[in-house]
Amino acid sequence: MNTFSGLSLVLDRAAERRDEPEWIAAQARGDMARFLVLDAGQQAFVDAEGDALRWLDAGEREALLPGTPASLLGVGESHTYFLIDVPEPARSEALATLLDARALGLREAGLRLPAHEAGLFAYAKGLAHWQREMRHCHACGGLLNLVSSGHRAKCVACGKLHFPRTDAAIIVIVEHDGACLLGRQASWPAGRYSTLAGFVEPGESLEDAVRREVAEEAGVRVDRVSYHSSQPWPLPASLMIGFTATAHDRRIQLRDGELEDARWFTPAQIEQGLADGSFAAPPKLSVSYQLLAHWLHERDGLELDALIARHR
Ligand SMILES: [Zn+2]
Repeated sequence: MNTFSGLSLVLDRAAERRDEPEWIAAQARGDMARFLVLDAGQQAFVDAEGDALRWLDAGEREALLPGTPASLLGVGESHTYFLIDVPEPARSEALATLLDARALGLREAGLRLPAHEAGLFAYAKGLAHWQREMRHCHACGGLLNLVSSGHRAKCVACGKLHFPRTDAAIIVIVEHDGACLLGRQASWPAGRYSTLAGFVEPGESLEDAVRREVAEEAGVRVDRVSYHSSQPWPLPASLMIGFTATAHDRRIQLRDGELEDARWFTPAQIEQGLADGSFAAPPKLSVSYQLLAHWLHERDGLELDALIARHR
């Protein structure tokens, strides 16, 4: 399963209760309440080892962050989870000292925290980012108030209701006759190649976005497009939607200048490149890594994790 995914297996978002302030307040005072605190850099507080979230209970919240609003994240098997955002640098630093906690960014958290904690952090970060950004009404410029326990924003002037925004992006591994198409941007570490990706535009289906992006970035014509999996990517507000696809032929033409290089790799070339250090896989927590691992396994029975571990 993709990193940050699968939260629905352990969390009921309880969306139907977001407009029940008395129920929410009672939950927040109770023994089951757990508060995930984000600091000014939208990092989460973790324990000294950095491998578990440092949750606040109701007593700690009352002592350390009295009156600071909390947003309901949802109800798990044994706890009710809330987000508290502390955007002021001085305040979040003081809090870290009081808790003797360190702060962890989402990317590192995706590799270090248990899956459900990484997923909760991603959810909280996505919501907090939107809350920080949504200050004024798109329609009239009026000020916004957060409502529905932080999941909606309402304009004080015209009453328009604003919803958290998610930007859809496609990411695709394209195959042709036993080789896959990977590209690299000039700013990436030497040797790193990744699957092609891009944001969905207005009026596009996901399949249309796949065909357009691959054509724009690599000049390659795509025939078949199939869904693979998706991943929340709140860095700051994306949803990555992964696909496999088949190319019509192997001609490459870098059209839009986004990529420094794009080429076809056979499994043997990837294996050799990992061995001699000329090829680096995309970051482990990305859909791109999962797509490449899936393709290598389907194509040649290769395990990307094992190949990387062997040549580290
Ligand atoms: Zn308005």
